[in-house]
Amino acid sequence: LNNKNLKSLVVGANCIVPLINGTSTYYINFDNAATTPPFLAVMDKLNKFAPWYSSIHRGTGYKSKLSTDMYNLCRTMVANFVKADLNKDEVLFVKNTTEGINKLSYLLKEDKSSEARDTVLCTFMEHHSNDLPWRNKFNVVYIEVDEYGKLSMDDLEDKLKKYKGRIKLVAVSGASNVTGYINPFHRIASLAHENGAKILVDGAQLIPHVPFTMKPHHSSSHIDFLAFSAHKMYAPFGCGALIGPKDFFSNNISEQVGGGTIKIVTPEEIAWADSPDNQEAGTPNLMGALALCASIDVLTSVGMDTIYKHEDTLKKYALSKLLNIEDVQIYCKKDDYENTVSIIPFNIKGLYHEDVAKALSNYWGIGVRSGCFCAHPYVEKLLNVPQNEIEHMMRHPDNPKNGIVRISFGLYNSFKEIDIFINAIKYIVKNKEKFKTISE
Ligand code: PMP
Repeated sequence: LNNKNLKSLVVGANCIVPLINGTSTYYINFDNAATTPPFLAVMDKLNKFAPWYSSIHRGTGYKSKLSTDMYNLCRTMVANFVKADLNKDEVLFVKNTTEGINKLSYLLKEDKSSEARDTVLCTFMEHHSNDLPWRNKFNVVYIEVDEYGKLSMDDLEDKLKKYKGRIKLVAVSGASNVTGYINPFHRIASLAHENGAKILVDGAQLIPHVPFTMKPHHSSSHIDFLAFSAHKMYAPFGCGALIGPKDFFSNNISEQVGGGTIKIVTPEEIAWADSPDNQEAGTPNLMGALALCASIDVLTSVGMDTIYKHEDTLKKYALSKLLNIEDVQIYCKKDDYENTVSIIPFNIKGLYHEDVAKALSNYWGIGVRSGCFCAHPYVEKLLNVPQNEIEHMMRHPDNPKNGIVRISFGLYNSFKEIDIFINAIKYIVKNKEKFKTISE
């Protein structure tokens, strides 16, 4: 694989940004876990299809029929990409992972087929989008992580036993957006199924980086539900997918209802449509679905195995350099880097996370993310924040002091960019005073 070829796949790979000293430089994007730049092929596809798009399921004109066919084709493409069970699973298009998980939480709450089950097993490493939607609807029980942030399978098994017969769902991230740990979701699926529970994989950080299969329904390690976002996989904002059993989606009324969700309506009665229509209220987002599929085309032709290996090499290269810099503290156990996506969480001793992130942007044009990454309990645990400090923070929630710096690679990042970043970190470590902006 050639970095130059990969760079040419994305839009904006050669943008020049201003620096604080009045000069400018090429932008280096090491914040791909938040959002990836779109592929050129994705933007091309949207432009080419733009003259032809029209409303879905709502017209008899040629363009309307073409748009409807394209939209349906997109469902099949997405299902194939994650190897969903085409006979039994449905792909719903949603706005993003957050909307997908909120929808699922509502449907599971309403679902009459397992009413006795009132508990969702969540993990301590979840993004808020796979934690908060469950909180106001279920008894949420958290599976512990160890001091390095890795999921405890022992605790998972203990909690499955302890709450036997009560667990409706095990909700687990495919890969953590903080430490990058890839969870053993197929094994977790088998354990959940033995207990009569279902599993949801939050695929936001996994699907763009790792080859993935939901597996057929007859397999004990089949994944029941999967959610992910297009904007983290080289398509623009506004589209994501929630995949799960057709029957389940058909049998439950959506949290949003309206145009497109019904077969027939009288002033007194409603005959609901089957899935997917009953779950997608309002005019569907065809351009979002098309963009996601154009991106899937590129990912498939590069090859998910190749992408995983390439990003893994980038990550190991950056790690080998970072580990040699005094005062750089990396969160995540050294031997476990094998089993992570291309995310590295770190801090520089003696500097606040925000100062490091600002310095990288202001002086070197490197975009990273810093803070708690919408996973506050997990980051506080990694940082070992004492309880009294957490309580203080709850009373003063604008405190920027606890947090981590995160770099996350995409398939187009290069070794050269990592070298620039490493030199920047070395400089910052040597000149800490220069970069301190937050008072003690
Ligand atoms: N889950 C994880 C693991 C994530 O990293 C993110 C995005 N940071 C989300 C869920 C939410 O994704 P979105 O904002 O696209 O809904």
